[in-house]
Amino acid sequence: MYYPEPIAKLIDAFSRLPGIGPKTAARLAFHVLRMKEDDVIDFAKALVSVKRNLHYCSVCCNITDIDPCRICQDKTRDGSVICVVQESKDLVALERMKEFNGQYHVLQGAISPIEGIGPDDIRIAELLKRLSDERVQEMILATNPNVEGEATAMYLSRLVKPFGIRITRIAHGLPVGGDLEYADEVTLSKALEGRRELS
Ligand SMILES: [Zn+2]
Repeated sequence: MYYPEPIAKLIDAFSRLPGIGPKTAARLAFHVLRMKEDDVIDFAKALVSVKRNLHYCSVCCNITDIDPCRICQDKTRDGSVICVVQESKDLVALERMKEFNGQYHVLQGAISPIEGIGPDDIRIAELLKRLSDERVQEMILATNPNVEGEATAMYLSRLVKPFGIRITRIAHGLPVGGDLEYADEVTLSKALEGRRELS
């Protein structure tokens, strides 16, 4: 079936999003067609704005509209602990439980030889720069409990060992193979509390 070009283009654009198959893409495109013009313009503006107005924080590499980001600027937070996560959404999950008051570092990915992602493709260099600050006493590895997350944690623990700081890994209660962002607050809080030393 052939659609007029504008709708075909929109279907194609939606189908490039993760988790969106051709059927859903067509459904979304036709939904847009039925939306009020003002709503469509707002939607399009939000898409452009997320790209234009968000940057990576020059300190923690989280996405932010101001630099340094609000967490890095917050003087009430404990600068001696850095919690390393894979994605910004993992940071949000940890922040939601309101128990961790240290700093974060967002790797923006994980090491994955299968996908051709090596240590240089994620924000490890920026992390090392921060760890050389003598105020930092602990690095918590809060990467996902799956193959990539574990590989990244092991890589970082070896790399950071010479810095002589405490290296811990969250573990307990997190489902193996799961994603941090899907863990509930109690599980996440226990995982952080029960973190163990990595030697
Ligand atoms: Zn930051």
